[in-house]
Amino acid sequence: MNRLVKTLIYGGEMSLCVLDTTDLVNDAIQIHKLSPLSAAALGRALTAAAFMCSGLKNEGDKLSVNIVGDGVGGTITVSGNSALDLRGTIENPRAELPLRADGKLDVGGCVGRNGRLTVVKSMGLKEPYSGSCRLVSGEIAEDFAAYYLYSEQQPSAFALGVKIGRDYTCAGAGGVVIQALPGASEESIVKAEETMGKFASVSTLIKEKSIEEIIEENFGKCETEEFFPHYKCLCSREYIGGILKSMGKKELEDILAEQGEIAVSCEFCEKNYVFTQSDVDAMFEEK
Ligand SMILES: [Zn+2]
Repeated sequence: MNRLVKTLIYGGEMSLCVLDTTDLVNDAIQIHKLSPLSAAALGRALTAAAFMCSGLKNEGDKLSVNIVGDGVGGTITVSGNSALDLRGTIENPRAELPLRADGKLDVGGCVGRNGRLTVVKSMGLKEPYSGSCRLVSGEIAEDFAAYYLYSEQQPSAFALGVKIGRDYTCAGAGGVVIQALPGASEESIVKAEETMGKFASVSTLIKEKSIEEIIEENFGKCETEEFFPHYKCLCSREYIGGILKSMGKKELEDILAEQGEIAVSCEFCEKNYVFTQSDVDAMFEEK
């Protein structure tokens, strides 16, 4: 199930978002053949990106998040748009580390504690908006919270979790995000901080309860709005051809001479595209 539910809490002083991204993470696992650790890291990033995309207002708005740390997983890139089509990739899909002392996957070690999280949003303006912050822990939830605080001046608390079963599939994934709206009282902020403490094992919670149950048990009955994020790559033959063309005719001719054809695999969905001599000729044909 992939679902994202938003509502206002504490008399409208704060916004709440609860996400179930179990299927989204399973799609990523299947496409990239992820190890449990890489799945947890990329899955948390995809979940945070799904939340971020739900804030894009206009059709065609899109964003991408780059998490560059010094951990064994390497760089993580996730992107999505206002339709909540999401996709992502991790440099080392088979990263492995010993479990932490508390038995959880060491996502902080996978991402690394030194590095940066960068967000680029394209919202129909001339220049895309870009914001960036240093990684806090590499655990991803705290890193996104830091990004919102420093780059968007919005105090936020994130709980993100991905539970991987013995069969290497995702048994539950999701998140809880609370953001203070302008003028939120100190009392509400303290209450939100206390409540966030209950979401330390958010993936187990998502596995066992519905989003509505989680909201009602912790915040009472609320009027909600729902969205449906999903894994969808927007690559196409035209798009890949455009990237190849930008490499120049000489470079492409060299590859053709050496390999007979040009095979390109999309980094987000692993789909293969093959270009032959006649495709390259057509690319540079004068109109
Ligand atoms: Zn693709």
